[in-house]
Order: sequence, then structure tokens, then C-alpha cells
Amino acid sequence: MRFQFEHSYQQLPDCFFSRVAPLPASQPLLVIFNHALANTLGLDWSALSDEAIATALSGVTLPENADPIAQAYAGHQFGHFTQLGDGRAHLLGEHRTPQGERLDIQLKGAGPTPYARRGDGRAALGPMLREYLISEAMHALNIPTTRSLAVTATGDPVYREDVLAGAVLTRVAQSHLRFGTFQYTASTGQPEFTQHLLNYAINRHFPDCANHDNPALAFLQAVCDKHVTLVTDWLRVGFIHGVMNTDNMTISGETIDYGPCAFMDTYHPDTVFSSIDRQGRYAFANQPTMAQWNCARLAETLLPLIDSDTDQAIKQAEACVNGFSNQFTRAWRQMMANKLGLIDSEAQDDSQNNSQDNSLIEDLLQWMQTNQADYTNTFVALTAEHLPDDSIYHTREFQQWHSAWQTRIAPHLPAAKQTMKDNNPLVIPRNHQVAHALSAAESGDMAPFMALLFVLQKPYQTTSDTKKYQSPPAASERVYQTFC
Ligand code: AMP
Ligand code: MG
Ligand code: MG
Repeated sequence: MRFQFEHSYQQLPDCFFSRVAPLPASQPLLVIFNHALANTLGLDWSALSDEAIATALSGVTLPENADPIAQAYAGHQFGHFTQLGDGRAHLLGEHRTPQGERLDIQLKGAGPTPYARRGDGRAALGPMLREYLISEAMHALNIPTTRSLAVTATGDPVYREDVLAGAVLTRVAQSHLRFGTFQYTASTGQPEFTQHLLNYAINRHFPDCANHDNPALAFLQAVCDKHVTLVTDWLRVGFIHGVMNTDNMTISGETIDYGPCAFMDTYHPDTVFSSIDRQGRYAFANQPTMAQWNCARLAETLLPLIDSDTDQAIKQAEACVNGFSNQFTRAWRQMMANKLGLIDSEAQDDSQNNSQDNSLIEDLLQWMQTNQADYTNTFVALTAEHLPDDSIYHTREFQQWHSAWQTRIAPHLPAAKQTMKDNNPLVIPRNHQVAHALSAAESGDMAPFMALLFVLQKPYQTTSDTKKYQSPPAASERVYQTFC
């Protein structure tokens, strides 16, 4: 079965996109293909050879009914407003799945577009495999994310600090509408363009908002809600996005743009891996604040549509964006309670329980930080029937915390442990393991990558290989920086 392409985005005003064909790869070679995702998309490609798939997903022969475009957008990059756009991505079309979902199919790394600025439009194999691996891991962790359908090597060189092998990622997303898409329309100074875009986004992602008395405000609230949930999920698993610029925030609330993102091993709220995040703007614990800041930038673009009286519009938008903090605090508190199996933590009639739970959460985090405990493995240890025989747990301080916690959850067993199992992954894509898998892949050996991917696809289940991937890095393996 073929892609069932529609092109609703092209009904927006012309300035929203540029028609541009991908650059054909010289020697397309299928490196990895996501059969499970293809099945859910209703694409039965079992009759196609790898060559045929690689050809279709590397710009050589476009899939039938593709109408490739690059999308225009703007964005605040590390706080500075810039005009951007897809510099190296081509949207082939919106595929209609058999379930009626509309999903963008995009080639990333298939040549420059009018928005490429000084970029070459290319992508290297390592980073595209990295996006494949981490986006699929995020999906398996039950976190909203763009998906990866395939990585195809192009056979063309990509010039970075070294000469690298080129590759194209086929990305699947609910849409590629970004906060920055709204910033782009607002920057045109034509409110009717923003209205067009708003109608489009509501229709595509939040159809209920159309019936609200103030659709623009309802839309803003819906997007804020999505991002409260998203960033809470990131914090649940120790994910650090690394480039939370407004052009990398989706309206749909999916995680997008896996550049220098990373998962934290040892717990510290200030953890930063991204080589380009020199000020720690997007540090682990700063992510909710930055998500809210980004929501404020989205809100600004919607003001004329919220109320023709600017003061009124600001008041309403501010109320919505300011609400992010409380919403997040509540969501985070519930998320941490889930990680610790603190059932009925929010019960309003039991304020003593409530404040005891706050202490259990805060004290554990403080303990982890002071003792450089592994974030993921600490929760795995608590979820297990018995604490592992690890000296880190043999201190009086930890034992004290542990017995208070055990007393708290005892009346709720086994439900407490089940909640913990559902919320605490056994494995995450640890940087050193990702780096190892990618460097093997770059020298032609996909086995370590496939083995890691296999385990990451079932992060809440014990498999025969789970243990191998639970080890934090040895001192010599530690990754300190990640790159775009
Ligand atoms: P990012 O930091 O990944 O969100 O990228 C910021 C902008 O740079 C986006 O508009 C990208 O399309 C563009 N970009 C990144 N790498 C390249 C490249 N190699 N060629 C052209 N544009 C690029
Ligand atoms: Mg980006
Ligand atoms: Mg990027």
C-alpha cells in the first residue's frame, strides 16, 4: 500500500511554505526501517525491496502524490528572535492512516531549501540514527514524540569537522506546526494570516476549541496543557531536550528535534549536555520554566485574536500562561508521587499525608543529588522487591528515609509497586551506550544499535538484555557533551 497523501497545509497563504524538491541521493541504502510503525501507518511494504524503499525515502523517486514543500517559521533561539524555516527538511505530504489520522511524512537531510541560510541541507548518518533511536525510545516510554520511519544512507559526503556519511531520516509527526510557525505569521504583520493558521491548527489538533466562545484563548490553553504534560514526562525519565527554542516546540505537544538531547545518569537539577547551551538555559530542572516562557511567546502571537482590546487580550493571555506554573507544580507532584508509589497522595482530607509526601519526595531528590545517585536506577531499586546490595543504600540517612517511605506505602501494596513499575523505566538511552552504538553503526556494524534499540522498545519490561543496559557509565565512558 502507498502513502495516502493529502496536502492541506498548502491551502495556507503562499508565504507559509516553499515548493522545493529533495536532492536525490547518489547511492541510497536502507540502514533501518521501522516495520512496526509502517504497519500502524497502514503501509504494507513487505513486497518492496530495501532498494525500492531507500529510493522512495531519499529523494530519488518521490512517492506517488508527494508534493514536497519546506515550511516557513521563525523562532526564539536561546532567547533571540530569528526568521527560520525548514533548512534541510522536505514535507512530502500528510498521510491518512487507515484509522483516519493525518500524519506528516517528512524527509530530514535531503538537501537545502530556500530557508537553508548558510547550511548545506544535509544530515549525517550518526545524528539521524541518534534521532531514530531516541525518538523511538521516547515513544516506548509513553512520551508524546515525533516518530522515525526510516534512515537511508545517501552515499554522499557531508562536510562537518570531518567528512561524514550523509543520511536522510523519514520523520512522522502529528504535524510540524511549531510555536515558531505562529511567530512567523505574527511577524508578517497580517493578522488574517494568523487567523488562517489558528483555524488550521485548531481544526487539525484541537477541534473542540472551535466551539469555544474564544477559540484563540481556548487554543492557547490547550497548547499550554499539552506542554505541562510533556515537560512533566521529560522530568519523569530524566530527559534533557537541550534546544528548547520556540521553533522546536510543537503545537501538538510532541517532542521534536532530537539534536543534542540527552538522558541524565547521575541526578542533578542543573545537568546540561548540549554543547551549544553554554548558559544552562535548558538545564534539566529549568525545562518547565523555559516551556512556560515559550508559551508566553506563543501567547503574544495570538493577542489580536483573543481580544480586539489589547489590554483585555493581555490580561486573558497572561492568566493562561501564568497558570502554567501551578499546573506544572501539581502535575510534577503527581508524577513524583507515582514514581514513589505514593497512592492517594493528593487526598485533600489528609493534609498530614500530603506534607509527609512532599518531604519524602524532596528528601529523596536531595539525597540523590548529594550522593550522586543514578536517577533511573534509584527508582528501579525502590521498585524492586528488595534493595540491591549496594553500599550507597547502607547509610543511616538513606535507611531512615527508606523506612519512612516503606511505612507510607505499606497499606497500599501491591498497587503502589504496580504504579511504580508503570512510571519508572528500567532502561533509558544512556549517553555512553548511545555513543557506542552510533560509532559502531558509523563503521558499518549495526548490531550494537539494534541490540540497544530492542531493549529501549520495552523500557518497562525485563528482557534478557535489560541488565546489560542498566549500568551507568564508568568514569572512562562518561559523556559530558552532546552535539547537534
Ligand atoms: P535546530 O537547531 O536543529 O532546530 O535548527 C535550526 C534551524 O537550522 C532550522 O531551521 C534547521 O532547518 C536549520 N538547519 C540545521 N542544520 C541545517 C543544515 N545542515 N542545512 C540547512 N539548514 C539547517
Ligand atoms: Mg529545529
Ligand atoms: Mg535540529
